[in-house]
Amino acid sequence: MSTRIAFLGLGNMGGPMAVNLAKAGHAVQAFDLSAEACAKAAEQAGVSIAATAAAAVDGAQVVISMLPASRHVEALYLGDDGLLARLPAGTLVIDCSTIAPASVLKVAQAASARGIAMLDAPVSGGTAGAAAGTLTFIVGGEAEVLERARPVLQAMGKNIFHMGASSAGQVAKLCNNMALGVIMAVTGEALALGAAHGLDAKVLSQMMAVSTGRSWATEVCNPWPGVLENAPASRGYTGGFGNDLMLKDLGLAAEAAMSVGATIPLGELARNLYALNKQAGRGGLDFSSVVKLISDKA
Ligand code: NAD
Repeated sequence: MSTRIAFLGLGNMGGPMAVNLAKAGHAVQAFDLSAEACAKAAEQAGVSIAATAAAAVDGAQVVISMLPASRHVEALYLGDDGLLARLPAGTLVIDCSTIAPASVLKVAQAASARGIAMLDAPVSGGTAGAAAGTLTFIVGGEAEVLERARPVLQAMGKNIFHMGASSAGQVAKLCNNMALGVIMAVTGEALALGAAHGLDAKVLSQMMAVSTGRSWATEVCNPWPGVLENAPASRGYTGGFGNDLMLKDLGLAAEAAMSVGATIPLGELARNLYALNKQAGRGGLDFSSVVKLISDKA
């Protein structure tokens, strides 16, 4: 069944996600503040670009947002000029951005007060997963709302996990990304140690990928240049998942830990490493560039 979908935020992730919705036969009206992102999405069949966010949501049954951080999501939906003020009751809002659980609750409560259902549905799978339509959706919200959203999510992803009530999706996503941030940093450290002993980082990675040190960082997004042809490390750490986005997520994990008195010693250490990587001028590069803090040879 074709659904009228408004898609807001056509960046590294949102662009290919909107395209997959159009490919699945949905009518997609999209908008991004960046003219460049709009122009890129407009080249794809099926995605029509609206002049404003308000125009994009006109007549939409489902509104999906994929924005950088909490402040962008709150600014889009809340306030007198926000989208919630103009969406009719019964609209389904799905926010796929990775943001603070507290921000989700703020927007979801405002939506609920207007009869608008909202899910937090952050994703995992990176830009490659977004392009291939194989993302994992990590969902918070009511089960029946998820059932309404399921056909739309299935056009963009392969796995859907219902983690609990509103904001549970974000909490779970932060847990995943905290583990990822730590694993990426220590994988870089291991490869740098091997290289300092004269080992070939490619052979070391191949060994680790079938041994107990294996991970997404060894097999898919290896931080050492030349080990994997399609990894950001092999194209100057461009594209992929930005260092600044990982730094944001580790900051959100720290906030989430403090809010319940949990301790995250390795997560905090990793947050400092990605902050140092930003200070070294690599905030806009893929987060695997954190290895350069340890080895200039990377
Ligand atoms: P991005 O910076 O490439 O894209 C975000 C887009 O949102 C930009 O094009 C920006 O212009 C647009 N935008 C900002 N405010 C807007 C508004 N009010 N209306 C319309 N457009 C607006 O970021 P991304 O890599 O696509 O990531 C998006 C979200 O997904 C982030 O929260 C990130 O943490 C999360 N995420 C990213 C990845 C990844 O691999 N890149 C993976 C999983 C999750």
